[in-house]
Amino acid sequence: MRVAVFSTKPYDQEFLDAAAKGTSHELHYFDTRLTTDTAPLAKGSDAVCIFVNDQADASALRILAAEGVKLIACRCAGFNQVDLDAAHAHGMTVVRVPAYSPHAVAEHAVGLLLALNRHIPRAYNRVRDGNFQLDGLMGFDLFNKTVGIVGTGKIGALVAKILHGFGCRILAFDSYINPDCTAIGVRYVDLDELLAESDVVSLHCPLTPETNKLINEKTLAKMKPGAMLVNTSRGDVIDTGAVVDALKSGRLGYLALDVYEEEEHYFFEDFSSRVIEDDVLARLLTFPNVLITGHQAFFTAEAIGNIASTVIASFTNFEKGLPLPNKVEKG
Ligand code: NAD
Repeated sequence: MRVAVFSTKPYDQEFLDAAAKGTSHELHYFDTRLTTDTAPLAKGSDAVCIFVNDQADASALRILAAEGVKLIACRCAGFNQVDLDAAHAHGMTVVRVPAYSPHAVAEHAVGLLLALNRHIPRAYNRVRDGNFQLDGLMGFDLFNKTVGIVGTGKIGALVAKILHGFGCRILAFDSYINPDCTAIGVRYVDLDELLAESDVVSLHCPLTPETNKLINEKTLAKMKPGAMLVNTSRGDVIDTGAVVDALKSGRLGYLALDVYEEEEHYFFEDFSSRVIEDDVLARLLTFPNVLITGHQAFFTAEAIGNIASTVIASFTNFEKGLPLPNKVEKG
């Protein structure tokens, strides 16, 4: 089948081409994001392959449907960038890659936690500059600390397991109890108790109407003063303006982000010679107790390889009318 691949980076092309070898799929790569303006690029394609910051909203989908697109393949776990109602109204099928490497994201979340707690980026820059002083680099032991995990699906459960290994006490908030978590002594509590008791809160829930701005002025006020917040889920799970205020007041002690609510304007692009016009992002970058990575938690060779092979298998199954195990059902 003919596929228009949006938001392509060189590594996407390398791994997708390798996975498509031996198939008859024709992949056409575009580095631009999918938006209403760029949707006509998919003319004549049976499918589009999109990533986290593409916009498969109602107007883009209308154009894609008119161009003959029948399959929307997200090469990521989240599918909040797709208007499912509109896709289904056009008779389009939506697939995703539900689990390409939960380890990649879980390990990155813990990496952020450790790097922020032990001031590793600051120490690295200081030592490179010949400054071996320790002032300002004091961290805290993770052993015996309480970590609150919001969302104990594939990724959250792995974070719980890793941090259990550090000797942390783990609390969790999720309406589904994961037996892998209870088996290692994770205690499920309500969100208020998790926020009040946790030294570190790590977010691993999907972005849904319920989780949109789950961390806001009110919930931040319920957190333990000086606690750390880690978000590798989706940017909109946090009200970033409220988080900036909490950092300024000292109520929030540390913030580690791999995702940001306005990230589609910046992430995956080089802004090093340009002015960042987003004042919230620019402000975040000034705090000594904030660590940001640009949505790279998923980015390991294992994960990119799994994503590519899963997406190509979905194209093949769709073309042959075979069952699609990774189909996204409406509602
Ligand atoms: P998953 O579906 O296995 O687990 C999500 C869990 O969140 C489920 O247990 C679900 O019950 C729970 N949940 C849903 N609504 C909730 C709520 N209101 N409060 C608390 N828990 C809630 O998903 P996963 O594979 O573990 O991924 C989690 C999220 O991580 C994804 O949805 C995605 O947004 C994000 N993610 C980020 C990256 C990255 O590179 N930063 C990569 C992959 C996934």
